[in-house]
Parts: sequence; structure tokens; C-alpha cells
Amino acid sequence: SRNAIKKISDYLYEIPASFREDMKVPARIFVSEKMLEKALSDNSLWQLVNVATLPGIQKYALAMADIHQGYGFPIGGIAAVDIANEGAISPGGIGYDINCGIRLLASNNFFEEVKPKIKDVAFSIFNAVPSGTGKGGAISLKTKELEKVLQKGARYLLEKGYGIKSDIEFCEEKGAFENVDFTQVSSKAKKRGQEQIGTLGSGNHFLEIQIVDEIFDEKAAAILGLEKNQVTIMIHCGSRGLGHQVCTDYVHEILSKQDEWGYNLVDRQLACAPFNSIEGQNYLQAMKAAANFAWANRHMITHRVREVWQSVFGPDCKISTVYDVSHNIGKCEFYEIDGKRKELFVHRKGATRAFGPNHKDIPLEYRPIGQPVLIPGDMGTASYVLLGTQKSIDESFGSICHGAGRAMSRTKAKKQTKGFLLRQELEEKGITVCCNSDRGLAEEAPIAYKNIDEVINVVTGAKLAKKVARLKPIAVIKG
Ligand code: 5GP
Ligand code: MN
Ligand code: MN
Repeated sequence: SRNAIKKISDYLYEIPASFREDMKVPARIFVSEKMLEKALSDNSLWQLVNVATLPGIQKYALAMADIHQGYGFPIGGIAAVDIANEGAISPGGIGYDINCGIRLLASNNFFEEVKPKIKDVAFSIFNAVPSGTGKGGAISLKTKELEKVLQKGARYLLEKGYGIKSDIEFCEEKGAFENVDFTQVSSKAKKRGQEQIGTLGSGNHFLEIQIVDEIFDEKAAAILGLEKNQVTIMIHCGSRGLGHQVCTDYVHEILSKQDEWGYNLVDRQLACAPFNSIEGQNYLQAMKAAANFAWANRHMITHRVREVWQSVFGPDCKISTVYDVSHNIGKCEFYEIDGKRKELFVHRKGATRAFGPNHKDIPLEYRPIGQPVLIPGDMGTASYVLLGTQKSIDESFGSICHGAGRAMSRTKAKKQTKGFLLRQELEEKGITVCCNSDRGLAEEAPIAYKNIDEVINVVTGAKLAKKVARLKPIAVIKG
């Protein structure tokens, strides 16, 4: 039903609330005309219309150009609900990999220095950071230690001597939600997490060595500590089995109570709880604990990368955290709605926070330029460093996309590419590949993703973000 979609501007389209009786607000998608056709090729826009029925939803159900089909909510989606007025919290609106996110590390080495040792350093990192489905083994935590991680996130690991203080300062929430009731995390979930701190996971998760390929904003790049030809490292991972189990546990519990709350949702996968109900609050606590686990995970991986880097390039080499963004998370934030300041719970599922300059939640050093937003593209093309803008706060609940977004399913990608051919192709382009599974590699082939430049053009064209730098892969490490 392409006809139901109204063009608002070159980068913004809308499905009015009149489209379906149960919609409480319109559904809006930031895309170009060309990318809209892609969005129509799966069920993701139907899912977005479903999100527009969420109890307490404010302004519009939102999606970005990287939209694709997910569990209940589309990936690349944002939904903000009014906490004080019937707002609902939905595990499916945050996703199974709670606090999956991207961290960017900057080295003080340049391409020419790293190039002769790229295979050495990439395979050393591959050995130091366990990867693959269900894989553990980086460090093992006793139950009490794991509970500390759930309470204090990356800050606990810093206290234990892992990482450096700036790793935490340049992380959303400084590496931990505070005052978390970790007892809401089941023992099954805790068990799954015990061996998994410092591990990458499988498939879509990656560790990439990159070079700064182009700078678009010299002044901002200098503030972020980025220069042309400098080598960076990007980490993409989340809360592993622990977060997945938290989502499973609460979807199950919340689903069984929909009638009790008078909810009659079009899709069971949208299952949600009143934000202020006991179940809603318990999920919130468990979600925050899982988020803390994910920050600790990226913190430990950072520590390992730093150890390897210094062993290969010498102890004087510096690895610093540029920033760390979450792209599967829910947060309480204030927005002006119809002239009134309201506290909303913002679900970001495959969406990244993108606050503009002067926001108090941005580290002091970056406050004048805005929040860094880290957008991975694919293993053969590029990734971007952007900055959030005031316009994103006004128009998209301070959010933008989280990646290029899938263009085809894993099954289809496997049919269209052979892992060993892809490996060869990447090596020919000067990209070192460290991956245990050729099949896994094929599922993540560049053709499986949308064009990152097109997605970035939408969010920057809509002025929700500004470009700072483009990063090009020189080695990719996959689960
Ligand atoms: P997700 O969190 O939805 O699994 O993935 C986020 C994004 O990461 C994807 O939409 C895709 O654009 C990007 N991505 C997936 N694999 C790679 C990779 O190996 N390297 C880079 N740079 N980006 C990737
Ligand atoms: Mn993930
Ligand atoms: Mn992710």
C-alpha cells in the first residue's frame, strides 16, 4: 500500500494515523524515495504501523533508513511513551541483544606503521577475544562478581584493574546505569553470562581495524582525536546470552498478562507492560542490569585490544576510547510535547542516540560539538563517525540509524555468496579476514546490507546528524 505513504520532505515520509483504526499516532520514516522501495520489500513498515498502536506512544512511531524486519518492532525503530500517562514498556522494542552497541577506539598509529603488521595484530586480537556462538572463556566470574557487573557495569571492571578511566568517561551513562536491582535477572540468565564477559559473540558482531579514510569536519575530528590515515578499532557486540535470556524471560511473563492490562495488540510480539506496573518495573531493572553487562563486555574487549596492541606496537602506543554508543536500549528522557515538558521512555531498537551540542549527557570535552554517533556499514565498504544535532532532539527523540541495515536475509545471503570467495575478494582489497566460519562470513557479506552511504545521506540530509569522518576496514574479525 505505497499509496498510503505521504511524502513530507526529501528524507521524510509518513503513514497517517487514519491509515488504520488502531493507530494512536502517525508512523514516520526517514528515508529517500529510493530506499523507501527497499523498506517496502519486507514486513517492516507493517511492523512500524503496529508500533503506532503502543499504549502511551507520543508524536509518531519512527523508523530510519536502515529499517528491516525484527521481532515485533522493526529494527531501525524508535518509540517514545509517556511515563506518567499510560505509557507501556516493551521488551521487543529494545530487542534480544540488550545494549548491543558500538565502541570506537583510536590508536596513535598511522596506516603506514600498522600495514606491515596487520595480519599479526589482527590474528592476535582474534586469539585474545573469543568469538563464535555461545563462546565463553575470556574470564570466568563467580556469581558474586557477576552480580557486581550487573550493578556497576564497566565501572566494576575498572575497579578491578581492567581498562582506564577515560574508557568509562567516553561511554553512554559512563558505563553503567545506577541503582539497578540485579535480583530481577534470573539465575538462568546469570549462568549464561558467567563465562561471557570479554567475548564477541557470533554473526553480525565484529571487531574491525580501520583507517580514517576521509575527514569531513576537521575541527570536530580534532576534538574527537581523529586524523586522516590514523588507525582505529571498532567493536560491535552486546550482552551475549545473558541479555538474550532476560528478554526471553520477560517476553514470556509479560505475554501472559496482556488481558489483565486490557491490552489487545495486533501482534503478540509487541507484548508490553504498563511502565509503572510491577512487571514493567521488573523488566526495566533486568534490562538495565543486562545493559551494564554489555558495557562491561565492551570494556573488557577494549582492555584486551589494548594489551595486544601494545605487545605488537610497543608499550608507548595508546589506545583511547573515542566513544561508545548503545543501539538496543530503552531510556528515560525529557522532551517537549505540545509545549509541555514530559518524561518519556524512549525505546531504541537498532537506533542510536544522537544528542545535539550542549546536552548534559555528553562528556564535557564533546559538549560543544554534540554527541558522537558511530555507524557501522559493512566489512567491505565503510563506517561513519557522525555528530548528533538539535534537530534530532526536535524531530526524532534524539535518535538516528544504527547501521546500513540488512537488505536480505541470512539465508538469501548464503545462497548468493560463497564464504571462501568473499574472503578472497576482501583479501584482494587489502582487508585481512579472521573468521572461523566461511558460512558465517557469507551471511554477513556486504551485499547482505544496504548501501551505507545512502543511509548516511538520509540522516545527514534530514539534518539529524553531521558527518565527521569515514572509516575504511583493513581487517575484520568475525564470530
Ligand atoms: P545489528 O546490530 O543490527 O546486527 O548490526 C548493525 C550494523 O552493523 C548492520 O546494520 C551493518 O550495517 C553493520 N555491520 C554488520 N557487519 C559488519 C562488519 O563486519 N563491519 C562493519 N563495519 N559493519 C558491519
Ligand atoms: Mn547484537
Ligand atoms: Mn548490534
